[in-house]
Amino acid sequence: MNVSDSQRTASALEMLGYTSTDRAEEADIIVLNTCVVRQSAENRAVGRLYSLRKLKDKNPDLVINLMGCLVGYKDNQPLKDQFPFVDVFSPPSDPTPLLKHIQKQNGKEIFNQHKLKMNAYLDGELPLPENEVGKTFSAYIPIVYGCSFACTYCIIPYRRGAEQSRPMEHILSEANALADQGVREITLLGQIVDRYGLDLPGKPTLPQLLNKLHQIKGLDRIRFLTSHPNWMTPELIDTVASLPKVCEYIEVPAQAGDNEVLKRMKRGYTSEEYRELIYLLREKIEGVSIATDIIVGFPGETEEQFMNTYKLMEDLQMDVAHLARYSTRPGTVAARGLPDDVPEQEKMKRFRMLEELQAGISSRIHQSYRDRVVEVLINERHKKQWKGRTRTNKLVFINSDQNLLGKIISARINWTGAWSMRGEIV
Ligand code: SAH
Repeated sequence: MNVSDSQRTASALEMLGYTSTDRAEEADIIVLNTCVVRQSAENRAVGRLYSLRKLKDKNPDLVINLMGCLVGYKDNQPLKDQFPFVDVFSPPSDPTPLLKHIQKQNGKEIFNQHKLKMNAYLDGELPLPENEVGKTFSAYIPIVYGCSFACTYCIIPYRRGAEQSRPMEHILSEANALADQGVREITLLGQIVDRYGLDLPGKPTLPQLLNKLHQIKGLDRIRFLTSHPNWMTPELIDTVASLPKVCEYIEVPAQAGDNEVLKRMKRGYTSEEYRELIYLLREKIEGVSIATDIIVGFPGETEEQFMNTYKLMEDLQMDVAHLARYSTRPGTVAARGLPDDVPEQEKMKRFRMLEELQAGISSRIHQSYRDRVVEVLINERHKKQWKGRTRTNKLVFINSDQNLLGKIISARINWTGAWSMRGEIV
């Protein structure tokens, strides 16, 4: 979601005539988009912000914009006091404060010239401009902003605001425009993406949206993330199974494999129900690849409860596991009532155990791809190799002298590791 927010901010600036640079010292505007989902992410953001101060000292005209979850929607006076060298503060997904600041700085003229376009952009009707899309054939489309759920560990609802689905027409016109510009793959984004539409009049659903998107000419692949187990309806699963463009790849976090811990996290399902869901996905969607998220060291997690998570991962053999060590986030239910009592060393030990388990599982799953011919969408050149992904989201590197950018090719896999594979064009 942050990558998508950053791309959209960049494209808003491009519409005003700005271009991008890799060198911070050359920039007229620096936008620091921040994530605070874990303490470590917040520390990194704050460290980066302080490092920008030097540039501001050298160039007082530099505009520094702090954006994202570090800012949130709350009163930002404390941030202004802490970071007096920041010119603009923007909440997640919203470049408006920056655009208004530039308008004020540059006078009305520049802005008026772009006003019509900008308004359309802010209403969500305009897609990324071509030069931005030109770099990639895969694009993100946010379909649900914010989150109204209350997992006890999670800060996102407090920083990204209430759940808000985008109207279906906006999403469809954006997807159409992206397809016209040559985008072949779209990924629909939401904190709980399978809740799409529940807050909209007439309650459109994700399956309905997928069916509409499926008709768009030029689009070859459609993905969506992240799903919550409780809203993965049989209808959604059947839709993924039956629509050829919808990729057989699902991100559906378990977070833990112990029922006591799941209850304290307020996830709303049991470990048995999660297992049933994974079995169902594998039964209904041929060749499905499934990713999960796991938090170790949640308040009160005993050795035995952790081993239930270990067992879950061992039994289910997921394709990918995003692992995190729990950290207390301000404002969350856990921060208010559940002491962070698992020692750091113990969290690290549990993290390493799962990491090692998962590396073995992922390697074995990847080995089963050897000598198989898979479809790869190439969307990057990386150190003289082409880089792309299978429908199941596996990372594949290919050596070729041909220009493969934006092509969907058939490749025979001839080497596999835990995190990526290599193949040759068939
Ligand atoms: N709604 C998204 C949440 C994205 S946050 C989803 O369900 O995937 C990404 C991941 O960060 C979460 O799935 C969770 O595993 C992890 N996370 C969230 N809060 C955390 C915390 N306080 N400490 C450690 N990891 C956390």
